[in-house]
Amino acid sequence: MQRNHPPPLIPIMQNPSDLADRVDHARSLLSQMRLFSEPAPKATRQVLERLKSKGPIKKTSSKTLSHPDAKASPDASSPSQKEATQSQGDSFSTASLSKEERKARLAALREEVLVCTKCPHLVASRTNVVFGEGNPDADLMFIGEAPGADEDAQGKPFVGRAGQLLTKIIEAMGLRRDEIYIANILKCRPDMPDGKSGNRKPRPEEMATCIPWLKQQIALIQPKALVALGATAAEGLLGGGPLVMRDMRSRWHAFEQIPVMVTYHPAYLLRNQSLSEKRKVWEDMLLVMEHLRIPISKKQRSFFLSK
Ligand code: SF4
Repeated sequence: MQRNHPPPLIPIMQNPSDLADRVDHARSLLSQMRLFSEPAPKATRQVLERLKSKGPIKKTSSKTLSHPDAKASPDASSPSQKEATQSQGDSFSTASLSKEERKARLAALREEVLVCTKCPHLVASRTNVVFGEGNPDADLMFIGEAPGADEDAQGKPFVGRAGQLLTKIIEAMGLRRDEIYIANILKCRPDMPDGKSGNRKPRPEEMATCIPWLKQQIALIQPKALVALGATAAEGLLGGGPLVMRDMRSRWHAFEQIPVMVTYHPAYLLRNQSLSEKRKVWEDMLLVMEHLRIPISKKQRSFFLSK
C-alpha cells in the first residue's frame, strides 16, 4: 500500500556538500518556532512586524550572526554558561571583512538583537532593546553595564545624565560622540521589583547570557581600545569579581587581545564631584589617548589638576 508522507521539514538537498545549508535552515526554523511560540514583548512587537514584512532574516554565514539560541545553549543559570558563550565569540572571525561588509553585518546583527528573547524576565519588563550606537569603524568603544530607565525609554545607550557626562568626557578628549562606539554588556534594562524605581546592577548570569552579542559587535567594529565604565562592566567584560576599581583602573587589561582601560562610571562622578575623582577618570582617558595616538595639548594634560 502506498503511503502519503508529509513533506520534510528540512528540504532534501541534492548535494551532500549542502549540509551546512541544511543546518542553517534547521536553525532558522527552530529560531522562528521559538520566536512565535512565545508572547512577543511589547518592545519588540513593532520590530517583529517589520521583520515579517521584510521576509526571513538573511544570515551571511552560519558563524557570523548566531546567539546562544543557535547552539544548544545551557540555561542562563547553568555554571557552564560562561564557557559556552565565550567559546562562541572565539569562533567569530571578521578579520578579512571590508569596512562596508562589517557595517552591513553590524546592521544585520542589530536586527537580530532587537528581537532577542533569551532572558524572558527582561523581555517582559523592557521597553526597548538597547543595541548600541556610534561609528561602526570606531577605534574606541566605551562599554557600560546595562541600560537605565532613560536608555530603556529611548533605545539608545548613555542618554541620561551619566550619558551627557560621558559625552563631555569624549569631547574633552578631542573626539565627537559619533566618532566612537558605545554599547553595554546587557542590552535590556535589568528589571526592578514592583513598586521600586531606579536601576539595579545586572546579575553575572544575565551578563553571561548577553555578552555573546557584545562580542560580535566588538569583532565587527575591531576597535583599538575598549573602556569599561565601572566595576560591573569590567566584571562582565573581563570576568572574575567582585573587582575593586582602585585595583583595576589606570592600567591596561585585555579582552580577546584588545586593550581594555577600566575607569569609573560617569554616574559615579555625578555622585562624587570632587576634582580628585574627576582627575582619576581623566588620567585614565589620557592613557587611552596616548594609546590611540590622539594629540594631547598641554591644557588637556592639566585638566582637573588643583591650581
Ligand atoms: S539581555 Fe541580552 S540576551 Fe537577554 S533578552 Fe536582552 S538582548 Fe537577549
